[in-house]
Amino acid sequence: MKRTIGQIASMSGGTLHIEADAERMVEGVFTDSRKPQSQGLFVPLTGERFDGHDYVQQIVSGEGAAAFLWQKDHGAPPEGNAIEVEDTLVALQCLAAAYLQETGVSVVGITGSNGKTTTKDIVNALLGTTFKVHKTEGNYNNHIGLPLTVLSMPQDADILILEMGMSGRGEIRLLTDIAQPDVAVITNIGESHLLQLGSRAEIARAKLEIVSGLKPGGLLIYNGDEPLLPQVLAEPETVKPDGLKLFTFGMSADNDDYPTGITTDGEGSLFTTAQSGKDAFRLPLLGQHNVVNGLAALAVARHFGVDADHVRQGLSALKLTGMRIEVVSCTNGLTVLNDAYNASPASMKAAIQTLYGYETKGRKIAVLGDMLELGPEEKQFHEEVGLFAAKHDVDVLFTYGVLGTSIAHGAQASMPSDDVHAYEDKQKLIQDLQAYLRADDIVLVKASRGMRLEEIVDALKKGP
Ligand code: ATP
Ligand code: MG
Repeated sequence: MKRTIGQIASMSGGTLHIEADAERMVEGVFTDSRKPQSQGLFVPLTGERFDGHDYVQQIVSGEGAAAFLWQKDHGAPPEGNAIEVEDTLVALQCLAAAYLQETGVSVVGITGSNGKTTTKDIVNALLGTTFKVHKTEGNYNNHIGLPLTVLSMPQDADILILEMGMSGRGEIRLLTDIAQPDVAVITNIGESHLLQLGSRAEIARAKLEIVSGLKPGGLLIYNGDEPLLPQVLAEPETVKPDGLKLFTFGMSADNDDYPTGITTDGEGSLFTTAQSGKDAFRLPLLGQHNVVNGLAALAVARHFGVDADHVRQGLSALKLTGMRIEVVSCTNGLTVLNDAYNASPASMKAAIQTLYGYETKGRKIAVLGDMLELGPEEKQFHEEVGLFAAKHDVDVLFTYGVLGTSIAHGAQASMPSDDVHAYEDKQKLIQDLQAYLRADDIVLVKASRGMRLEEIVDALKKGP
């Protein structure tokens, strides 16, 4: 974003401090005091442990910013180009919303329990063949990351692709109000954040908040395999724009688009869809869940008129944000499916299914750890995952963590106890696992972020 200080004051709902130079041009916005931008606007945010206002003086006197926002309840601002606001976070969000309205860029908003970042990356690859696109970097999907993503967009972008994350009601509504998407995508409904939200229907309501900010005549692309989505969409409380258009995707043939054939190999899937006819698409990602993410992305690309050849070109150049079912070939012949990025029941099952479909001469081994924040029924969710693993031909299961023990219990209902090993000590697990593994084996590694299972992947890469 490039605007004068005067323009920024009016866009953010602030007032210019008497000493500020209204005509000075500002380029870029930042909140991290450790990464100053001499031409940029510094937005000091007040967090639980740190207050950005404590760094304003130092940044401005070192010419680490061209201007700054200042929250009025912090007293008088230090000398410099101050824009005074009631609340710096709200001002950041207003600034982003105003910038979007001024640029008139088309916006795609993506939410869902699993697959947001993956779908965003696929959408980016497809639209990027034909348009100038800007997207959420990494996982910058919340009330701070989203406005910063918007404000880092070049003025001449055609399409902005935004990931929208949440952990409770009202959060997606805030994001969609800022973004006012032309197209909204809901990848799926799972059990992530069940602890905070209480039921799957409440999770569906939280995701469907995305519709409330859609522009009139906007398009909602959603996973039609999830019956809760049309149900909640029909609830009178669900706020919808005039002329809302709907498009469903999923595995079931009841959807507007679904796969008509899928073949897989060790590197990805080749699939055809009902909408696209006989010509197949090659998706360089493992797992049926990624074909479903691909269908969502195809629907977005179709909406913007990207043709099939460009779609193929985009898919072949796809680059994902790391640790999402990454195939790691270790020097000792072992293959690791690194999905240590995060986990929920739906994504655990998706990953186990991916392992199930993987062609290998060796044994299929799963190393699964705790899924966090699942609420009072967490034990049952873990047992279900264990049983699912056992029923999908996992040869040997290693579990890690206290809840992981419930995965082990669940598995023992349908596989020999000797093939199930539960650990609460990660180092001991690594030692035993390494002693156990043979070349040709394939190992899936997955748990919630907090369990840091990438340490196991790193150890396997190094070898015993
Ligand atoms: P976060 O909430 O952490 O931002 P996300 O929704 O962005 O997550 P991704 O990062 O794309 O999700 O994928 C995380 C994991 O979820 C993947 O590694 C994969 O195991 C699983 N996953 C991805 N897509 C799906 C899907 N459509 N259904 C079920 N599981 C999925
Ligand atoms: Mg994400």
